[in-house]
Amino acid sequence: MRLERWMETGIDLVYPPRCPFCGTIISSRWELLCPECRDREKEILRRPARIDREKHYYYCIESAAALYRYHHPLVQKGILRMKSSEPWYAAGFARLMAVRLYGYEPAQGKALLDLSLEYGCIVPVPDSKTGRGYWVTGLMARELGRLVGLPVETKALKKARSTVRQAGLDREERLTNLIGAFKVIYPEKVEGKKILLLDDIMTTGSTVSCCAQTLLEAGAASVCAICLAVSEQE
Ligand SMILES: [Zn+2]
Repeated sequence: MRLERWMETGIDLVYPPRCPFCGTIISSRWELLCPECRDREKEILRRPARIDREKHYYYCIESAAALYRYHHPLVQKGILRMKSSEPWYAAGFARLMAVRLYGYEPAQGKALLDLSLEYGCIVPVPDSKTGRGYWVTGLMARELGRLVGLPVETKALKKARSTVRQAGLDREERLTNLIGAFKVIYPEKVEGKKILLLDDIMTTGSTVSCCAQTLLEAGAASVCAICLAVSEQE
C-alpha cells in the first residue's frame, strides 16, 4: 500500500469519509459511494454518455460526453459536496469516470481503452475554484490522467479575465460573458494535439465551446469534451 493510502487510512479513522451522494459513512474513500448509492447509480448514469450536439449547441468540439445527469438530486448533492467540502471527492469522481467511461480496471491498474491513441493530453477547464480555494477540474484531471495514462496540462489554458458566474444566465448571456475569457499560456503544450477537455458540469455547452475555440486558435488539432454531469431538459 502506498504511503498516501496509509495516511488516508489514518485520517479516515479520525474523520470517516462520507458518500458524496447521501452522506452515509463509507469504509474507505477509495470506494467513494456507499453500497446503496452504488445500487442507485444506474438511475443517474447517462446511457449513452455521448451528448447530443443539437440539444446543447456546442461548437468547436468534435464530441462531448458526460457520466451523470445533473437534474437528479443525488448528483446535485454529490457535486455540491465535491465543490464545497473536501477536495478528495474530485479524485474519487475522476476514478468513477475512468471506470465507467473508459473501462479502467482497478485490479489491473489500466484502462480497457488505450486513450493515448485517441488523445494527446487532458486539459481541465480553468479556474473553477470554490470557496475552499481548490481547483476541482484540475484535481479531477490529474487523477483521470494518472489512471488512463494521459498527460495533463494544467498550465496550458487559463482565464484571461474574470467573468461573472454563469449560473442564472441564458445561453446568449453566457456566450457574451465568455468572449475573450480564456487564453492559452503555453501554445507548445497544445499545438497539434488532440485534446480531451474536462469540466465538472456542462449546462449550455458555452464554457467548453469557448475553451475549445481558444485551444484550436492556439493550434490544437481537435477538442473533445468530457464532463462529470450534464444539465439537460428531459
Ligand atoms: Zn450514498
